[in-house]
Amino acid sequence: MNRCNKSVVNPLCNGCNGLTIKHGLVHCRQRYRCKNCKRTQMGLYKNNACSLFINNKIVNYIKEGCGIRSIARLLQISTSTVLRRIKDIANCIKKPLMRSGRIFEVDELRTYIGNKNKECWVIYALDKETGQVADLKVGRRTKTNVKRVIDTLLIAKCKQIYTDGLGLYQQILPTTIHKVKRYGTNKIERKNLSLRTHLKRLNRRSICYSKKAVMLEACLKIYFWYDGCQFALP
Ligand SMILES: [Zn+2]
Repeated sequence: MNRCNKSVVNPLCNGCNGLTIKHGLVHCRQRYRCKNCKRTQMGLYKNNACSLFINNKIVNYIKEGCGIRSIARLLQISTSTVLRRIKDIANCIKKPLMRSGRIFEVDELRTYIGNKNKECWVIYALDKETGQVADLKVGRRTKTNVKRVIDTLLIAKCKQIYTDGLGLYQQILPTTIHKVKRYGTNKIERKNLSLRTHLKRLNRRSICYSKKAVMLEACLKIYFWYDGCQFALP
């Protein structure tokens, strides 16, 4: 880099968008420090994983049906970095607040964890009017797991819950709010179709599935709730 060139404009801070000053060289690359928040950053990153907006790019690729390895190839970063970043992003995402008196649809989506002999279910609840996913649980289709999703809805004082004819729901749900009706779960069935199209690990008749339930849950959280809480993300 030509040190005498005064016309070179320093980059703005990646953290607070403030002005930066030169802060020494690291392996012949210029480093800058923010005047405002004192954070340091490089002018040009050798490692792509450190560059700006990489987390946003990972999220966009997840939602566009890319798997872990394809994201790693496209962004030229390692698969372990992609996995770690997905976990970090998902940990910062919080469930949206629910209003009382809403109508929900509850359904389960089948997938596999580890190998194709190990079935796993995504149990989730969808607001019938807004299409917002209220709660989700990844695991076996047991009474405990279904109850966990249903309890969240009951605590939020929901008005009605539409489900399919699965016997578990009749055991758990009070008859006053439980409804099993033809076309009653149309909205959530359509959401299942979107999920199967948009998330690589839920594609049908392919060799793509999650190795671990944690990653499946992290990807679903990002898919459902990322847009609502971008402010708190790393
Ligand atoms: Zn700054």
